[in-house]
Amino acid sequence: MKKTDLLIIGAGPAGCSAAIYAVRAGLKTIIAGGAMPGGQLLQTNDIENYAGFVNPVGGYELMDNMLKQCKRLGVEITTDQIVKLSGTKTPFTATAAGGETYEATAVVIATGASARWLGAPGEDKLRGHGVSACATCDGFFFKGKNVVVVGGGNTAFEDALFLSKICPSVTLVHRREGFRADAVTVEKVKNTPNIKMKLNCVVDEVLGDGKVTGARLKNVQTGAIEEIACDGIFVAVGAVPQTGWLKDSPVELDGAGLVKVNYKQATNIDGIFAAGDCTEPEFRQASIAAGTGAKAGISAAAFVNLHK
Ligand code: NAP
Repeated sequence: MKKTDLLIIGAGPAGCSAAIYAVRAGLKTIIAGGAMPGGQLLQTNDIENYAGFVNPVGGYELMDNMLKQCKRLGVEITTDQIVKLSGTKTPFTATAAGGETYEATAVVIATGASARWLGAPGEDKLRGHGVSACATCDGFFFKGKNVVVVGGGNTAFEDALFLSKICPSVTLVHRREGFRADAVTVEKVKNTPNIKMKLNCVVDEVLGDGKVTGARLKNVQTGAIEEIACDGIFVAVGAVPQTGWLKDSPVELDGAGLVKVNYKQATNIDGIFAAGDCTEPEFRQASIAAGTGAKAGISAAAFVNLHK
């Protein structure tokens, strides 16, 4: 069993930021970051809205810097995937998939969110055979091919721009006419000749036998059905909080599966804090995750200093 002042579960911007504050406050701090510490930013291309960078910074580079910063300050980062968190008062016990256990005076949950899928027929069986939720990871395999991107947020628009550089044609499918993506990115997409938009449309079925060959689209206003040929479908319709592993823990979740926190990032259990996308209903931004992570780190340090 590993004993620590603070165990942080998750190694995205929220987890790293919490760790930076906690370790600098003198806490022995461990991040259990899972097999690939870094979170969703590892799958993001250029980030232009994280303050402090004159030019766009790659998501991987930003995350790599945060992890290196944590290590330099003395944070221990493990690849353990925590599957269970127990205890209703300090100290808490966390168990990893491989059987390793941790005893921590305080805990910060920062497990983020993962891709939401469409639920359309064909999507599930063709995942990994043309259906992907990560253009940054899988886009390369579609070089020279025609692809569809589904969604109307920043992820979909940025994916479309990224893919337009390597694919002859990109079709952006969105279920309405308004977008969540910011105006600058929408304008860039509109000005990219090989991106076309199919608005008021949803994917009714992913077509293909063994690999994607097309998408059946349904116009939600007219009911009209259209089939378009494509080799890849990138689903970018938001995220769901990664909190399923907490279902048997005493930590309270809301109806959407988000960890309930107060303004200090404290959960219903004294000594367990949460931050980042696993707590965030709307503003899933790296800078906000880092900000709430900082609050969680400061709150956890105050708690540990009272209970050590
Ligand atoms: P998002 O902003 O929640 O957008 C999800 C999109 O998917 C929405 O347009 C939504 O449509 C659509 N959608 C949801 N469920 C759907 C379904 N079942 N079928 C069809 N369409 C569906 O998610 P996101 O684009 O992943 O962005 C998440 C957060 O990260 C946002 O705050 C975003 O600004 C941020 N982000 C920032 C950057 C950056 O700054 N570089 C990059 C990526 C993401 P409706 O609009 O109709 O609801």
